[in-house]
Amino acid sequence: MTSARLPSVDRLLRAPACAPLQQRYGREALLATLRSLLDELREPARQGHLASLELSEAVLAGRAGERLAAQHRSRVRRVFNLTGTVLHTNLGRALLPEEAVEAICTAARYPLNLEFDLATGKRGDRDDLIAGLIRELTGAEAVTVVNNNAAAVLLALNSLGARKEGIISRGELIEIGGAFRIPDIMARAGVKLVEVGTTNRTHPRDYEAAIGPRSGLLMRVHTSNYSVQGFTASVATADLAAIAHAHGLPLLEDLGSGSLVDLSRWGLPKEPTVQEALRDGADLVTFSGDKLLGGPQAGLIVGRKDLIERIKKNPLKRALRVDKLTLAALEAVLGLYRDPDRLGQRLTSLRLLSRPQADIRAQADRLAPALAAVLGDTWRVSVEDALGMIGSGAQPVARLPSAALCLRPQQPRRLRGRALHQLEEALRLLPIPVLGRLDDDALWLDLRQLDDEPAFLAQLADLRREVP
Ligand SMILES: *Cc1c(COP(=O)(O)O)cnc(C)c1O
Repeated sequence: MTSARLPSVDRLLRAPACAPLQQRYGREALLATLRSLLDELREPARQGHLASLELSEAVLAGRAGERLAAQHRSRVRRVFNLTGTVLHTNLGRALLPEEAVEAICTAARYPLNLEFDLATGKRGDRDDLIAGLIRELTGAEAVTVVNNNAAAVLLALNSLGARKEGIISRGELIEIGGAFRIPDIMARAGVKLVEVGTTNRTHPRDYEAAIGPRSGLLMRVHTSNYSVQGFTASVATADLAAIAHAHGLPLLEDLGSGSLVDLSRWGLPKEPTVQEALRDGADLVTFSGDKLLGGPQAGLIVGRKDLIERIKKNPLKRALRVDKLTLAALEAVLGLYRDPDRLGQRLTSLRLLSRPQADIRAQADRLAPALAAVLGDTWRVSVEDALGMIGSGAQPVARLPSAALCLRPQQPRRLRGRALHQLEEALRLLPIPVLGRLDDDALWLDLRQLDDEPAFLAQLADLRREVP
């Protein structure tokens, strides 16, 4: 009998309290939400478990509004990356400079000459949009761009070595996060893996001995995400290129991060550059767009024109090609490299990677009191030196001297672990989630990447309610 107090879905739909919801989310979505809400309430209402207030139109509309808001909230969310890892793969790697953001907006809004040669009025090639810049910056004869570096390696291997043997050192059979393993990629590319040398030492004679009539290419992989120390030997690109060329074989070098500049200029550890690999004789070089290059996700293959032509004819290239937004951003980012003197300021990722520790510390000193006020007596907030990382597997043993807000629980010892996890969660659930790092029984917020201080401070009021 009590179920009669549950309003009908039609009546609820026409209720004034629901009008703004219909306006905002549309009739369909509102109707579906009201239906499921009423379905859930039918049984408790029948059993008399609900007060009539809980079934009022205003309250039901309020609940429907909350559900609709949650459903319509974007799953792609901006976050504060205070983990200390700059090129964080799980957080989207490189942040694009303003020039690239603008280029993306223009490419998104308007038609463009993606595959149209404006000089001749004929059909063009999308790779040509950045070919001039790549030639100028790296000295490469030609370039082609694909979805990411994993795709670049797959495509280059398949184009050069399908049904043939690919010779590579055992010390370079790397695994990158996310199931990218050189032996697996080779197999998928149809290249028969021929491993030479040992894990720690590979010599020129090891490659020489492996070359035969079925050889298709020699490959060198930059062991970007780990380091072997001690009794080690590997063959330099120049020596390996000489061996390959003496047998008429191409040398493919996968650089991974592949920087276009010597990073030591900005106080960072030097990564091998694309120019060096080409100068030393690599016939093709592959590298990522969104690691140290600081651009959009992409994989670049640069090098000999005849080999790039062969790659472009591979049907896989069509399957792996990049879209207009990526090319627009890539061109803008590459353009910044024309002026190396200002690169450290203009290229966002380089600016963040090279940000001086004193600058970060000053920011931490500035913010510590505000955070301490929000967290109250149960937390000790201190400014500490911290060591960050480049990320994306680049220079895994290198550390970036940084500064962090260190949040240490002051509750009785047995409650501290729980408090830490609650605070970590409270920060993670803020409107703009704040992601730090748990270490040494404290939560660390490395401020190297905190650009938007006002937005960070504005959220602290929300945090206050959740502090354990
Ligand atoms: C990162 C990396 C890759 C994969 O590049 P993605 O752009 O992530 O696909 C391949 N090889 C090496 C050596 C790398 O460091």
